[in-house]
Amino acid sequence: MVESHSTPVAVVGAGPMGLHLACTLRRRGVECVVFERGEVGASIEGFPPGMVCLTANHGMRIDGLPLETAGVRATREEYVAYLREVVRERDLDVRCRHEVVDLRLQV
Ligand SMILES: Cc1cc2nc3c(=O)[nH]c(=O)nc-3n(C[C@H](O)[C@H](O)[C@H](O)COP(=O)(O)OP(=O)(O)OC[C@H]3O[C@@H](n4cnc5c(N)ncnc54)[C@H](O)[C@@H]3O)c2cc1C
Repeated sequence: MVESHSTPVAVVGAGPMGLHLACTLRRRGVECVVFERGEVGASIEGFPPGMVCLTANHGMRIDGLPLETAGVRATREEYVAYLREVVRERDLDVRCRHEVVDLRLQV
């Protein structure tokens, strides 16, 4: 089913970049909706089970939220859980299972 939404800013994808952007907009008082075709962190969830991220934890944090992991670097599972925690903690408006198929600019 194709739905129509209207929002001042639409962010496509609830990966690290989309969530980082949504947090930044939120802090600046800009309303936005994040549309995600799967679940939060869908791309990373597709990585091999147990895969350890190459980037150090401090470089993967979003909006200052601490990324605490059992080892020195986050596993795939830990990072996906962290991304979902970011959504909850920052109360972001993320619409999962919403694939963006068209964008229109209204002026
Ligand atoms: C094996 C592997 C290991 C990696 N290790 C690291 C690492 O250690 N450190 C690092 O920094 N990077 C690593 N990367 C790269 C990592 O994937 C990116 O840094 C990170 O995922 C990019 O975040 P992103 O939000 O830009 O994109 P993504 O994580 O890909 O998120 C994009 C999101 O958009 C959604 N989406 C796409 N199109 C639509 C649409 N039309 N409508 C709605 N939703 C949509 C997708 O479902 C997805 O959830 C690795 C990549 C691979 C493959």
